[in-house]
Amino acid sequence: MLKGKNALVTGSTSGIGLAMARALAEQGANVMINGLGDPAENEAIRASIEADFGVKALFSPANMLKADEIQAMVQEAQAQFGSVDILVNNAGIQFVSPVDEFPEEKWDAIIGINLTSAFHTTKAVLPGMKEKGWGRIINTASAHALVASPYKSAYVAAKHGIAGLTKTVALEVAEQGITVNAVAPGYVWTPLVEKQVGDTARARGITEEQVKQDVMLKAQPTKQFVTVEQVAAVVTFLAGDAAASITGVTMPVDGGWTAQ
Ligand code: NAD
Repeated sequence: MLKGKNALVTGSTSGIGLAMARALAEQGANVMINGLGDPAENEAIRASIEADFGVKALFSPANMLKADEIQAMVQEAQAQFGSVDILVNNAGIQFVSPVDEFPEEKWDAIIGINLTSAFHTTKAVLPGMKEKGWGRIINTASAHALVASPYKSAYVAAKHGIAGLTKTVALEVAEQGITVNAVAPGYVWTPLVEKQVGDTARARGITEEQVKQDVMLKAQPTKQFVTVEQVAAVVTFLAGDAAASITGVTMPVDGGWTAQ
């Protein structure tokens, strides 16, 4: 149970992050969710977490590309909850293109949202976690933190970077009751994956069905998409006291992809 803990999950108005926020709330944690998109929809998501789980839920529209907005988000969570005990760096975007055609602004956005935002949030929450002598930082990496695929240079670079940040911060705070880990999902059926089916089909000159079967699920020995609930369950485990000795790990949840 995570009753009495306060969590902040970036990129949690959709997909994996939303499932993580709901799973942490189900365990009793208060949660601040974050994301872009329609304010009315985001308010409905926030309110449903409070209604379904009886915890306090907040929403921050902070853009993970902007350091000042990230810092303000963490400060607001600390002010409203009293602390941030569990930080989940989940916000992420994807763009698929051969590297020699990769748009510079897409590279910068992927590195900014998928990697640099985790540096800013981590830096902002650590003083409070150190003061309490307890903390959990969980980063959403990817199978692409461990292996590569063509046409995803920025994403693979950012996710390998997240694995490195995870290990480094884990070592820095290992004696202070704070663990730092990453989950590394394979293909999870979410809006992020749905959107890249068409781009991958164009980049490889194949049909969308071939992308699903021959590119995505080909990499996954189980031949099943991972579910958002399966990733969220790993996060709630890592957030609990039972996982106190697990730190610096990038844990695959990938149907065997990176075992190959
Ligand atoms: P998604 O598109 O469903 O959700 C992304 C979330 O991030 C949304 O809440 C969106 O509003 C938010 N977001 C995007 N840009 C933002 C910004 N600039 N500032 C703040 N919030 C922003 O995606 P998803 O598939 O749930 O992916 C979530 C994470 O999981 C990402 O880090 C992704 O790389 C990772 N991941 C996904 C898969 C997969 O197969 N879906 C596999 C491995 C890793």
